[in-house]
Amino acid sequence: MTIVTRFAPSPTGYLHVGHAYSASLAYQKAKGAGGRFILRMEDIDGTRCRAEFEDAIFEDLAWIGLEWEQPVRRQSEHLDDYAAVLERLFAQELIYPCFCTRKEIAAEIARSHSAPHGPDGPLYPGTCKELSADEREANFSKGLPYALRLDMSKALDKADVSSLYFEELDKGFIQCDPERFGDVVLARKETPTSYHLAVTLDDALQGVSLVVRGQDLFEATHLHRLLQHLLALPTPKYLHHGLVSDIKGRRLAKRDKSATLKDMRENGYSPEDIRKLIGFSVKY
Ligand code: GLU
Repeated sequence: MTIVTRFAPSPTGYLHVGHAYSASLAYQKAKGAGGRFILRMEDIDGTRCRAEFEDAIFEDLAWIGLEWEQPVRRQSEHLDDYAAVLERLFAQELIYPCFCTRKEIAAEIARSHSAPHGPDGPLYPGTCKELSADEREANFSKGLPYALRLDMSKALDKADVSSLYFEELDKGFIQCDPERFGDVVLARKETPTSYHLAVTLDDALQGVSLVVRGQDLFEATHLHRLLQHLLALPTPKYLHHGLVSDIKGRRLAKRDKSATLKDMRENGYSPEDIRKLIGFSVKY
């Protein structure tokens, strides 16, 4: 089977050395095995994504010597695809509209004196799950903003998670435990998808067979595996790599200007310097 890997940045800032590592590792895993490497723009957040950052991503990746297939999929150009899978989840009654504001959720959590946290923040207390069909309709007709949430307990019943696993390269099979996300948001009225839904669908649509990404997204894979099951999508293998830190041991972030590839290039670093820095000393 041909290995297909991808690098899927969000154009919300300049890439840093950690991104160079992630992209290079994905590239090497594919190219080293005669496979394919894909670049995808995860640009669903219209308020934070900018064309200038997208251009910089192309420039930086080409500068460190990577080549990718054309055309590059931009998530913002495929919102219909996400809407279609949401329809399928809706038809199975696995998602429900939630009209709560952040403030209302915080107040409800404070009232309940229990605040379980998931990887994406405090778990939703389920307020809108109980709304009747009439109450939902009334809210829709008032034009209230809403989010579409996964009904986690129904999803768990449907999926029989005790038999769901994903494969972490070189580590073996890991049992899927998505309950930690609670009734996670899969879409919002104004953005008809979320990171979790879009990434899961796109990896399947693009035939990605090995997802290479940072350890910070390891938890998310539990949810993605559940979504794959509910949507009858294939399951890729995973490789969650360690995160690159600065000399003080802090994880690099897009806001750390000094470590951006753009900045390093402008300060005289060569692509070979970057490759050595991230441990890829040979030319691809
Ligand atoms: N778009 C995500 C990010 O920039 C990465 C998604 C993924 O690799 O699954 O953090």
